[in-house]
Formats: sequence, C-alpha cells, structure tokens
Amino acid sequence: MLARSMGLASDNLVGVEMVIPSGKQGAEVIQIDENNHADLLWACRGGGGGNFGIATSFTFKIRPISTVTIYEATWGSADWQHVSELLSVWQSLTPSADDQLGSVFNANSQKDGTITSSGLFIGSQETPLRQLLQPLFGIGTPKVTIQTMPYLDAWLHFAAPPDPPRPDKFSSVWVYDAFPPEALETVHRFLANAPISQANIWCLSWGGEVSRIPTDATAFYHRDAQFYMEWDSPWTNDTEEGPATAWVEQFREALQPYVNGSYINVPDRSITDLRVYYGDNLARLQEVKRMYDPENVFHFEQSIPLT
Ligand SMILES: Cc1cc2nc3c(=O)[nH]c(=O)nc-3n(C[C@H](O)[C@H](O)[C@H](O)COP(=O)(O)OP(=O)(O)OC[C@H]3O[C@@H](n4cnc5c(N)ncnc54)[C@H](O)[C@@H]3O)c2cc1C
Repeated sequence: MLARSMGLASDNLVGVEMVIPSGKQGAEVIQIDENNHADLLWACRGGGGGNFGIATSFTFKIRPISTVTIYEATWGSADWQHVSELLSVWQSLTPSADDQLGSVFNANSQKDGTITSSGLFIGSQETPLRQLLQPLFGIGTPKVTIQTMPYLDAWLHFAAPPDPPRPDKFSSVWVYDAFPPEALETVHRFLANAPISQANIWCLSWGGEVSRIPTDATAFYHRDAQFYMEWDSPWTNDTEEGPATAWVEQFREALQPYVNGSYINVPDRSITDLRVYYGDNLARLQEVKRMYDPENVFHFEQSIPLT
C-alpha cells in the first residue's frame, strides 16, 4: 500500500550480499551495490528470486513515516450484484488519486457474497479520504470504518495471520487501461460462476512513484499499469482441483484482450513465455544470468534461461 508513495520494496534495495557459483563446483560471496556488480543489483530489483545466487543480506533505503489513516469498506451478499459498478468506480478513483493513497479492491465469488475495499493514506486526513472515496461508499450499503493511527499499528492491522496451507491456483495480470464495460462484465461473469466459493479477485492501485521510474531502470517492468489484479481458487478435495484450475485459466484467457503481462511473485505454470513477467527486460536478465550463473546452477520451472 506504500508503493504509490515510496516505490516498490525492490526500488528501495541498495545492496545485496550474495553467494554466487564460481567455477564448476565452487561458490563465492560478493557484495552488490551501485558501484559493485551494478548489473546484478539491477537484476535483483525485480528479477532476483532464485535466479542468480543465494541472497544472504539485503540493504534497503529507509524512509520516515508516522501517522496514517486507514479505511475499510465491506459489502455483504445483498450488494454483490453491484460488483462491476464497484470495480468500475474503484478503478476510476484510486489509480489517479493522490500518491499518499494505496488501495485494494477484493471481491469474492457470488456464492460467498463478500466484497471489500481497504487502503492506507499517509497523514491524518480522515475527512478528505472519506470525500475522495464517497463515490465508492455511496454504492449499496457498505460498513465503512476510517481510523487514524501510527503506521506500525496499521501494518499490524493489515498483516493478517497467514492462511493455513491449502491447494490453490493463482494467476495475475496488469491492467494498463481501465477495464471497459465488456471486461467488467467478464469479471462479473467469472465471479458469478466460480465453482468454489472462496474464489476471488484482488486488485491493488498502481501508478504514483512506481510509474515515475523508467521500465528499464530496474528488472521490474510493469510500471505503467493502472492497477494490478490477481485471482485464485483454492480447493479441498481432489475432485475440485480440475474445476478450480480450469476456472483460473479460463479467466486468464477471457481477460487477455484487456490486460498486459503478469507478476512473477504469482507464478502461473500455464505461462510459458517469460516476457509476460519481465517484458523487454528479459534479454538483459538473460545477459546477467550468463555472466553470473553460466552453468545454470540456479534453475527451476520458470527461472531465467541462459538463452
Ligand atoms: C498467501 C500469499 C500472499 C502473497 N502476497 C504477496 C504480496 O502481497 N506481494 C507480493 O509481492 N507477493 C506476495 N506473495 C508472493 C510471495 O511474496 C512471493 O512468492 C515471494 O517470492 C516469496 O518469497 P519467499 O522467499 O518467501 O518464497 P520462496 O518460495 O522460498 O522463494 C521464491 C523464489 O525465491 C528463491 N529464493 C528464496 N530465498 C532466496 C534467497 N535467499 N536468495 C535467492 N533466492 C531465493 C526461491 O528459490 C524461489 O525461486 C504472496 C504469496 C502467498 C502464498
């Protein structure tokens, strides 16, 4: 929720200690920063996970933050019919809002019936925040709370305990142009027909500081989106796996005319072209891979290939 004001966590990465392969069997520890192995620092800012070596220490630029205002709005089953309208209004408000606002939109399947939006505004401005979001809060009859608190309390508030492990399929996209009515209708249709009630979409407003950094300045490519969207469906017994994964994959297919790329932190094995994650930065990531891991010691299903 701070990305629009402070950039990505990886934009604030200034140093890494890494164990890299050396020769056929060996390893060496290197210190990476802007002056040493700068190409590897570039790669670690968005493309590092498991591809080049083992990171043993990260150094981040830190930024001051004190009071924040958080909001949460929850709509129940009676309002689920408004899901397209809510997403439409949310996408028109939050990606263009003041950079101090980071906002999430989360809609569960019609079977579940819950829709939520939550967010964080840096500062103690409850009234302007309520006014900004009034077009959203005015749809249906949501339960809305707005509270001002120290940032650490907000962090603890949003950092829910992790769900117990469960089988699940995720996928994700970047929405560069606000969804037109047909795309909103597609989202509605998939959520209405989801086979598992816990299936959901989760969207995060983008832009602000993230979009002011050039797409080739770091390995993280998808900076010009209006918002990020991921969706997932868990399952509990084996017979549900097929319908749940098909729903996730068909949803991805149906969204293709309206979206761009995908987020590497939500790896989807139905994606075979890694440019979907890394865009035009893939070629440079491969150069860095050839330089630091020419034997491809670090490889997995969707790792950066040598060529
Ligand atoms: C419920 C859930 C919620 C999530 N929410 C978010 C979110 O809000 N935002 C977000 O960005 N992502 C989110 N993710 C994705 C998650 O942050 C990424 O998958 C991330 O890569 C996990 O890192 P890890 O080290 O914990 O995982 P791992 O699966 O252990 O590692 C991911 C990759 O990094 C490699 N790796 C691990 N440790 C090192 C190391 N020391 N050095 C080099 N490579 C290493 C692994 O080999 C692997 O390829 C979520 C995932 C789940 C399951």
